[in-house]
Amino acid sequence: MEYLTKDIVAINENELPNDIQFMKFGLNKKYDKENPALRIDFQNRLGYSILCIKKLIKLKEKNVSFGSAYQGKTIKYIISNYSPEIIDCLKAIEIQDKRERTTFLYETLCDELDAVWKKFNPCNFCNGICAAGKTDKRYSGPDGCCAKAFDLSFWKEPFAVLTQSKFFPCPYLGEKDGCTTQNVACKLFACTYIKKNHLIELNPHDFIIYEACFSQKQKLILTYNFFRTKEQLINKLLEENRTPYYFYSSRMKYLILEKKDSSD
Ligand code: SF4
Ligand code: SF4
Repeated sequence: MEYLTKDIVAINENELPNDIQFMKFGLNKKYDKENPALRIDFQNRLGYSILCIKKLIKLKEKNVSFGSAYQGKTIKYIISNYSPEIIDCLKAIEIQDKRERTTFLYETLCDELDAVWKKFNPCNFCNGICAAGKTDKRYSGPDGCCAKAFDLSFWKEPFAVLTQSKFFPCPYLGEKDGCTTQNVACKLFACTYIKKNHLIELNPHDFIIYEACFSQKQKLILTYNFFRTKEQLINKLLEENRTPYYFYSSRMKYLILEKKDSSD
């Protein structure tokens, strides 16, 4: 039994009590406003699971409810062939407060990405030098991050980015322990050295949370805002924005720009 809130649960199909009422899930099925528990087979398939979660989010937005009372709890889902990532998505759906839900999704995605980096450890830091840094001296620093941001005003001096002089350490790089914040874009980034040597396979579209729980605009925010704090990213994710996607993307409205100090 998985607790989605303190009184709403999802149970495994094997635990299904005999006397419980339920209905079957269908991607194209229509539901009344109030329904008994929903039985879903996620089929252990990434693409199908993503479509299921997207549909469940839409149903929640339309205030369509599911649940069958059982031993003082409400069984909302009866599920099979699911993963821990799917449980996290189901938990997120139950969080009413938008900021709290976005923070939960953001932190969970960070944890999933961290687990992949930990498993493959492609950077393989040794005495403050990463794998790529052994041949390119620009990549060195405390364990955990290459952390070389280049000045975003580089367009004024396009050739300067080719030299070390225009690089500076990320302000969120701690002296000893690497990154002091959680940045999804940085966690999705793999340098040319890593890509060339196939040291890690990191495709954001393979993460159910990224694919199913964030909008197209939010995915741009998550993917391209390097060198920013977790709080800055979450605030940006929560920003109301009515710009059509084409302009939002082509005009790079997804970028978090640093405010200029007025004393400059
Ligand atoms: S991503 Fe590449 S450059 Fe950055 S720390 Fe890892 S190996 Fe080094
Ligand atoms: S924000 Fe990104 S670049 Fe900066 S220290 Fe953290 S992981 Fe490294």
